[in-house]
Amino acid sequence: MAERSSTFSGGSPARRTGFVHLVGAGPGDPGLLTVRAAELLRIAEVVAYDELVPTALVDLAPSAAERIPVGRRCRGPAQEWSRIHPAVVERARAGLRVVRLKAGDPFVFGRGGEEAEALAEAGIPFEVVPGITAALGAAASALIPLTHRDLSSDVTFATAHELSGSGGRSAWPRLVSSGTLVLYMGARTLEANLARLVEHGRAPATPAAWIGSATRPEERVVVGTLADLAARVDAERHEGPAIVVVGEVVTFRDRLLALAREAAA
Ligand code: SAH
Repeated sequence: MAERSSTFSGGSPARRTGFVHLVGAGPGDPGLLTVRAAELLRIAEVVAYDELVPTALVDLAPSAAERIPVGRRCRGPAQEWSRIHPAVVERARAGLRVVRLKAGDPFVFGRGGEEAEALAEAGIPFEVVPGITAALGAAASALIPLTHRDLSSDVTFATAHELSGSGGRSAWPRLVSSGTLVLYMGARTLEANLARLVEHGRAPATPAAWIGSATRPEERVVVGTLADLAARVDAERHEGPAIVVVGEVVTFRDRLLALAREAAA
């Protein structure tokens, strides 16, 4: 496979050097994997994957490939590592081709930057293969255009986790002034986060949609407003990952569904 200019090489040419591909797996539907990601999985010797990545994607690797779950929840107290799983570095140093399969896109709330930095520092050659980030997968699947000429001319991706921390406080005023807002990792703090948007000046009647397990067979979409979305979502008792889209663009979904129903009638 041709290596691109964004590929960084290191190590001694005398022996076989390993390689780490930091690969975006997309939001879950195997059809949304890039062609390059699928090719790399097929020739992987080691697959180190996030817990959010569905088994169907990990299964694209040869059955002989070693599989290493490296999700944050897989870390025990004895397994403290800060930027990249030590097994990824070890296998690459041993000369193996490692696919580090990350949910969505590696560089969107995936700590891919930290992993790339650790690999660069260790002198391990690596590349980054982009993936469809959850916001894009969820928006397409729920029929919500993130921008629209009449409804919103900008979109912001934010993570609810970081917003609840002290560093995030200053970000709220910026978020309420934007057109479309997509909140990642907001499942458990949904009610508080939506209330904060209202506190900072966004109208309680602003349309908002919650998309659980986007692009997967168990996908759920709940539409409401900043004022009532959290209560509506509670009834879903959903376990998988979820994302929230806030803004006028959310109204487009019902409009589109109504048009399609009328045309079919
Ligand atoms: N790098 C990933 C994001 C990792 S953070 C990306 O680019 O998509 C994890 C968060 O992503 C989850 O808490 C959730 O908010 C979101 N997410 C990932 N997959 C999702 C899916 N299939 N449906 C809805 N949200 C998803």
